[in-house]
Amino acid sequence: MACDVAVLGAGPYGLSVSAHLRNIKGLDVHVFGEPMDFWKSHMPEGMLLRSPWPASNLSDPKNAFSFDAYSDAKRQKVPIPIPLESFVDYGLWFQKQIVPEIDPRKVTRIEPSADGFRLILANGEQFQARRVVIAAGIAPFAQIPAAFQGLPAELATHVSYGSNVSRFKGKRVAVIGAGQSALESAALIHEAGGDVEVIIRAPAIHWLGWRQRMQKFGPLANIFYSRFDIGPAGVSRIVAVPDSVKYFPRGVQDAFRRRALRPAGSRWLIDRFKNIKVTPAHYVESAKPAGEKLQLRLNDGSTREVDHAVLGTGYKVDITRYPFLPAELSQKVTLVNGFPRIGVGFESSVPGLHFVGAPASWRYGPLMFFVCGTDFAARRLALHMASSGSRNGSR
Ligand SMILES: Cc1cc2nc3c(=O)[nH]c(=O)nc-3n(C[C@H](O)[C@H](O)[C@H](O)COP(=O)(O)OP(=O)(O)OC[C@H]3O[C@@H](n4cnc5c(N)ncnc54)[C@H](O)[C@@H]3O)c2cc1C
Repeated sequence: MACDVAVLGAGPYGLSVSAHLRNIKGLDVHVFGEPMDFWKSHMPEGMLLRSPWPASNLSDPKNAFSFDAYSDAKRQKVPIPIPLESFVDYGLWFQKQIVPEIDPRKVTRIEPSADGFRLILANGEQFQARRVVIAAGIAPFAQIPAAFQGLPAELATHVSYGSNVSRFKGKRVAVIGAGQSALESAALIHEAGGDVEVIIRAPAIHWLGWRQRMQKFGPLANIFYSRFDIGPAGVSRIVAVPDSVKYFPRGVQDAFRRRALRPAGSRWLIDRFKNIKVTPAHYVESAKPAGEKLQLRLNDGSTREVDHAVLGTGYKVDITRYPFLPAELSQKVTLVNGFPRIGVGFESSVPGLHFVGAPASWRYGPLMFFVCGTDFAARRLALHMASSGSRNGSR
């Protein structure tokens, strides 16, 4: 089988890119992956989205399948903050409306071939594609701190590991980290009947919400914050325009990304934290199995015996960790600290190999880590492919 463009991944980026590419006349696009799989299987049940309503739209050429259109079509008012199940349902609705033909299978390997790339599936079936858009998300980039490496999944898991928090009922659980997913997991485990302690390196949890507090001053909030609400005052406006980011010196661009992604929790979590123990300014030096429990030793020498540690310890982009990219291909991609150096049209140094989502933030800034970056990415990529000729035989 052959196609012009293979899109690998059917999350927010893969679906949005596919919606735009399908609009290019004569372009044969094949989309691989279970729709919204990361959101369905790797986020805690009961989670609420951190991103506000205007930052939660997938992108299609006519803006016809926005979150508003979804809630109108379903004749239901979606609560704010948006519940995880509503966002998953929106993604699946979007897919059925505008990207109906999806091949849900996983691609196990991508190899360079004479006229593009060969994609290999688990059953050995092969596809030929002139271009490949990798929209495979951040799951393989989950960071496990050294102290927790090698522990069995019964004792320690990254937050992206599983969605079922009810398994922690009656258990002692240490949650490591001060980002949204760590803090929200802690709240959900506590509410499910777990005995939770949150251990964070910072002197205190950083709660988001300046934008909301400034709303009372009316348009002033909009001067400093974009509607996507990514990043602190001022930076928020800059990073909301991904094309502007590259005009800043590299050190400043990196600082924008660090600031916009620094660990923080939504203000609506504060009330849910009233009865949760937080241990600030501490980190785990060692974590060892002790029978069926896990023994943690903290930097002050104190110890904890817990049933499980949930690691909300973030993600570090490194595309060589994508299991479907063999070294022979990933070594040809010019990398900067694990990020592919991409050019116009999200194309890497390997012609025809494109990266969207978090890996693209090296060029286009922190918006690419979030759903609100899909519109820019999908439109820019489609423009590039429409103008550079990606159909069979024309590249
Ligand atoms: C707990 C948590 C909460 C978050 N909350 C928010 C939020 O509120 N707002 C927000 O904007 N962002 C949030 N994010 C970030 C979120 O992950 C990204 O915004 C979003 O998922 C990016 O979309 P994506 O398409 O790049 O990645 P994904 O959603 O991860 O989609 C990638 C898809 O590719 C598929 N795939 C991977 N490998 C293959 C393969 N070999 N073959 C076929 N398919 C493959 C995966 O199954 C997956 O479905 C959150 C992240 C986490 C972990």
